[in-house]
Amino acid sequence: AGFAAEEAALIERRRRVLGPAYRLFYAHPVHVVRGEGVWLYGPDGTAYLDAYNNVASVGHCHPHVVAALARQAGTLNTHTRYVTDGILDYAERLVATMPAEIANIMFTCTGSEANDLALRVAKAATGGTGVIVTENAYHGVTDVLAHMSPSLGAGAPIGETVRVVPAPTSADTSGEGFAHGVKAAIADMAAHGIRPSALLVDTIFSSDGVFADPPGFLRPAVKAIRAAGGLFIADEVQPGFGRTGAGMWGFARHGLVPDLVTMGKPMGDGHPMAAMAARPEHLEAFGREVRYFNTFGGNPVSCAVGMAVLDVIEDESLIASARDVGAALKSGLEDLAAHDGRIGEVRGAGLFIGADIVDAKGAPDAAAAAAIVNGLRERQVLISATGREGHSLKIRPPMVFSHDNAALLIERLKATLASL
Ligand code: PMP
Repeated sequence: AGFAAEEAALIERRRRVLGPAYRLFYAHPVHVVRGEGVWLYGPDGTAYLDAYNNVASVGHCHPHVVAALARQAGTLNTHTRYVTDGILDYAERLVATMPAEIANIMFTCTGSEANDLALRVAKAATGGTGVIVTENAYHGVTDVLAHMSPSLGAGAPIGETVRVVPAPTSADTSGEGFAHGVKAAIADMAAHGIRPSALLVDTIFSSDGVFADPPGFLRPAVKAIRAAGGLFIADEVQPGFGRTGAGMWGFARHGLVPDLVTMGKPMGDGHPMAAMAARPEHLEAFGREVRYFNTFGGNPVSCAVGMAVLDVIEDESLIASARDVGAALKSGLEDLAAHDGRIGEVRGAGLFIGADIVDAKGAPDAAAAAAIVNGLRERQVLISATGREGHSLKIRPPMVFSHDNAALLIERLKATLASL
């Protein structure tokens, strides 16, 4: 009881000093003081299995990353207008993970800034202003991006030059249905005298409910935006850095070469760093017109951290592991679904999985999804829910998630379902 009172006091302190705009996860918020690998620990030592964190992508407090950060922080950190080596070594290594057409990269501190930069670049390159996003997308915190993030709801109305298209569906295997929405948005822009500049999509449609398959379904939509003179911006903040288990980037699964690529969250294993990569021809107009300076983006410490994250992904074969453990986890969920009508479609790639929760008639059941998320939290397993209807469980653990961790998640999910 003393412990619960302490937690309530912390939550009240948050409200008082941080104000009213923040939201915590879970009916009973989680207080954590330490992290290691896939585990988060509370002040009383309670261990939580973190199955939701693509920020601690290679595991909480990975010793190789922490050592690189500490070493560089004790050697040199500065703003980014001096010549330093780390940014060049890191930029070359990161660009080498992309298709050859994408040869430039610019650094920022958050995914929002990377998307904001990509939009400025796309405007300059195309002369257009129109942007197409999906119906429950989230792309960032800036004024411009909030109005391109329908998941934020009525408080952030969609911008005048923004068009919202239906999210992909599993039934639309060719992607022509998704492309149809994009073509209709382009036609509507034309009717309003708006020139398209970009199709901006999260290539795993994380906040739309996780749509990964079949690989390639994105191609007709990308063809449509290019035919209209716009660019394809692949927002890799969610799927990037190997999580899908099929190479480093979500767009590559679709056999696409984007015009611009944005990335963030998993890039620094928790350290705030992000970037936008580009085909050089698209940067020309922007580079002529704009002087770009980002005080912290690409600083020596961030670049050392980014390098260390790439080391860990390679040294620990985390892409193959995401593929194998993710496949086992997905089939575990499919087995559960076969015996429990409350679990509907299971989707995903690698360690990025969405599982729909439905009622007896098969309709989306957001209340049941929330009950499962909170029930798992009471069993020390952390996941969340996503999608326009809020009824898709979203499972996205650090990539060091093991087969044992996956089995534990399934066991606790079974117990949760049995309790409801
Ligand atoms: N794009 C996507 C797809 C995201 O999920 C997010 C963050 N949830 C962002 C962009 C914004 O990144 P950040 O919070 O680092 O600004």
